Amino acid sequence: MTSTTERDVTGPAFPRASSRVRGMISGRIFELLAEAARSDAVDLGLGVPGAPETSPLVIDEACAALRSGHNQYELPEGNRALRRWIADTLPGDTDPGTELTITVGATEALMAAVLAVVDPGDEVVVFEPYYENFVNAVVLAGGVPRFVRTRPDDWRFDPAELRAAFGPATKAVIVSTPNNPTGHMLDESEWAEIAALCHQWNAVVISDEIYSGFTFAKPHISVTEVPGLRDRSFLVGSLSKTHSVSGWRLGYLRASAELTAIARRVHATVCAGAPAPLQEAVAKAAAQDPGFATPADDLRSQRDRVVTLLEKIGMECRLPDGGCYLMARVPRGESSDDFAHRLVREAGVLVAPGTVFHVDPAAGADHVRVAFNRSSEFLDEVAVRLASFRTGMSGT
Ligand code: PLP
Repeated sequence: MTSTTERDVTGPAFPRASSRVRGMISGRIFELLAEAARSDAVDLGLGVPGAPETSPLVIDEACAALRSGHNQYELPEGNRALRRWIADTLPGDTDPGTELTITVGATEALMAAVLAVVDPGDEVVVFEPYYENFVNAVVLAGGVPRFVRTRPDDWRFDPAELRAAFGPATKAVIVSTPNNPTGHMLDESEWAEIAALCHQWNAVVISDEIYSGFTFAKPHISVTEVPGLRDRSFLVGSLSKTHSVSGWRLGYLRASAELTAIARRVHATVCAGAPAPLQEAVAKAAAQDPGFATPADDLRSQRDRVVTLLEKIGMECRLPDGGCYLMARVPRGESSDDFAHRLVREAGVLVAPGTVFHVDPAAGADHVRVAFNRSSEFLDEVAVRLASFRTGMSGT
């Protein structure tokens, strides 16, 4: 028997998630991951770096940093040498003292940028298909995502739809270039459209550029290079993929001194800084070999190999401009959810159905996202598993 007092505290409504948490979209890709784990599937669904391995140089430097006293708090804004090195890799001049913050991955940089400027009820423009955290960061800040669809013919936005999404309540727009999941990269005309709208409605751009080191078709244009956006933007970066250290949780946020001062208040509160020894290790490794990043050329051959494997089973792929994902069209007559589940069951290969990147459950049913940053041994195994797989209704 529980007393009335106990029921007040522990009744059916306890524990109750906050309305912000209840408003988050749920990671449906994780359902598929669970199915993949049960069936021992190989994973082409997530962007976890598979190749090349983490540089031995930076691993040695991490061990050395742990042994040489870098085990206490770092400056909240990050290791000075690391900030200097990252600032030098960015286009234009960035003052590492006032304009750059080392964060706990791009994940924290994104959250800090959103919390820095978004008030409850503010609208934030997010492109679909999206990287899920863009939506959840806005929801956790109490903001309201305004979705603008991009479509498989070229994954560009329609300028009229973008204009319709901006208004007096717009506080920010979040972009990803090179894009996860589509592989699209924003060109000058798309950036100009975004810049004009941000000026018209006094909004900021939060630009996730974590794949900027992975480009195949055209040069990357950073938000910091777009006329009128340098002081009206947050650039979100990360070493996770480009330097194959996703478990180290090292990212960064670049913005004007004014925006940086605001975002640093959030950053200091939510994490008090990124891991000290790992920051030291990257700074030391970069001083010895600034080119220890994942070469885009390796990725290009991994991309081409995956495209060949998918085409062999009758899938149509659009070559991505950059990043480490491609979107492949599923066979006519089958939804991307059904196809992805069947691929796990029948071939033991995991891909992400396009529906997980949309709020509208009817959208994204014709594509799956495939990650191609995998070693050649891994892709040999994928080839074996796909060899007897049948696309189309005949296989169901
Ligand atoms: N932004 C995008 C577009 C991503 O795809 C990912 C990870 O896949 C992240 C951010 C998270 O990056 P980090 O590991 O630096 O937190």
